[in-house]
Amino acid sequence: MTTDGFDAIVAGAGIWGCTVARRLAEAGRRVLVLEKRPVVGGNVRCETDPATGIEIHTYGSHIFHTHLPEVWAFVNRFVSFNGYQHKVIARHAGRHYFLPLGLALINGFFGVELTPAEVPAFMADEARGRAIFDAFFRNYTSKQWGKAPEEIDPSVIKRVPVRATYDVNYFNDYWQGIPSEGYNVLFDRLLAHANIEVRCGTAFSLADLSALPAGVKVYYSGPIDALFGFRHGPLPWRTLRFETERVACADVQGTSVVNYVDADVPWTRQHEYKHYHPERKDVMAHPETIVCREYSEAWKPGDEPYYPVNDAASAELLAKYQEEAKAYPNLVIGGRLGAYRYFDMDKAVEAALKLNIE
Ligand SMILES: Cc1cc2nc3c(=O)[nH]c(=O)nc-3n(C[C@H](O)[C@H](O)[C@H](O)COP(=O)(O)OP(=O)(O)OC[C@H]3O[C@@H](n4cnc5c(N)ncnc54)[C@H](O)[C@@H]3O)c2cc1C
Repeated sequence: MTTDGFDAIVAGAGIWGCTVARRLAEAGRRVLVLEKRPVVGGNVRCETDPATGIEIHTYGSHIFHTHLPEVWAFVNRFVSFNGYQHKVIARHAGRHYFLPLGLALINGFFGVELTPAEVPAFMADEARGRAIFDAFFRNYTSKQWGKAPEEIDPSVIKRVPVRATYDVNYFNDYWQGIPSEGYNVLFDRLLAHANIEVRCGTAFSLADLSALPAGVKVYYSGPIDALFGFRHGPLPWRTLRFETERVACADVQGTSVVNYVDADVPWTRQHEYKHYHPERKDVMAHPETIVCREYSEAWKPGDEPYYPVNDAASAELLAKYQEEAKAYPNLVIGGRLGAYRYFDMDKAVEAALKLNIE
């Protein structure tokens, strides 16, 4: 691989890598961005269905939300957002309820008409907490993590925040939305800088790292275990399988995401992507829609890694790879795959903005 003339290599063009690349370029460094896939954008990549104009979130629904002013200001330099507010519906026993756990769900589920002031005393009854847990959390969590429902700890319900309001906005963050022109435009603009060259379809490896001239820094956001050839064994993940279907109906579920919380339905969620852009009136009115059922499955090497399985064994394994990485002073590892951590997009951008690039 020719890397002559570059001051820095950014390996992985997800939101972390692209933010780092942009910062480096604006600081005057010549940056080579290497991306294993044929396209940039990482897990946030979308594709537009030519027949309907619907933007499909290739790796699962992504909603940008943040309470961090510096992150919001940064992404708004490149794109504007459409003001989409995320709401999640849970389908249980053939009926639909608004998540999170608030007045709409409690009143609907128990058939009561509580006022906000009555919620704490009502929910203090353990049997009610357990009923909510059994209906909405136990089977969903079991499907998501591949555990038997009995293994799901009921104490989880104590940590689920209860809203004594009808606020059904899924996120608490002040800012949220979807880029009006789509996520891919965000990545194209982040990388559109005279100091940045992008090479897609090029995976960075440990051999490349060893061959680099001194002084060239590498910002790597691929999987940390893959970089070291899985020499201590692979870090465990959950993977997702998406079953996408075109339906001859303008609107199947009336909302972007429905969580299927019962055990008898094998998928966890169903996405209907057109609802992420209610401002695109022609797409909304199109007589067809696209739905996608999401299945959570055990990961094996070669599958897409989605959710890290954070337990004592994986922490021990991660520490071994982090120890290996210390031998390379010109290597900076970040992003969700490098850190082996679930990050929302805003936290990935925040980490990239805070990174010392001197
Ligand atoms: C199912 C799901 C839903 C999510 N929904 C949301 C949401 O609604 N809102 C939100 O804020 N966040 C969401 N997230 C989190 C979001 O996906 C992450 O915050 C974001 O992807 C992190 O970006 P990244 O750059 O760290 O990683 P990635 O996007 O994974 O980018 C890493 C890139 O590195 C590339 N790469 C790997 N190995 C190499 C190599 N050797 N050489 C070169 N390139 C390599 C990969 O191909 C990839 O393009 C979701 C995550 C999941 C799993």
